[in-house]
Amino acid sequence: MALEEKTLRCRDCGQEFVFTTGEQEFYQSHGLQNEPSRCPQCRADRRRNRNGDGSRPRQMHTVTCAECGAGTQVPFEPTEGRPVYCRDCYTKQRKTV
Ligand SMILES: [Zn+2]
Ligand SMILES: [Zn+2]
Repeated sequence: MALEEKTLRCRDCGQEFVFTTGEQEFYQSHGLQNEPSRCPQCRADRRRNRNGDGSRPRQMHTVTCAECGAGTQVPFEPTEGRPVYCRDCYTKQRKTV
């Protein structure tokens, strides 16, 4: 039986998407009986979310600037022993280098 492209509807976003013959072959070769119920975009989103790196806002860390002593927030975990600068001092540092 020749494979044909199928148009399916995503259960998450409701958009139609094409279940290509290549994907159907992939599904068959892996013994998957069910057709995909989500479009590639939503599948990718779900995969990202499972890794905990989806649309979540980045966690900010409050640190004290090593230069001027001002409290500032940085989007990364400060490493112990390494100076962290506020935005102003960081920009200044880069300019002087
Ligand atoms: Zn979708
Ligand atoms: Zn500073």
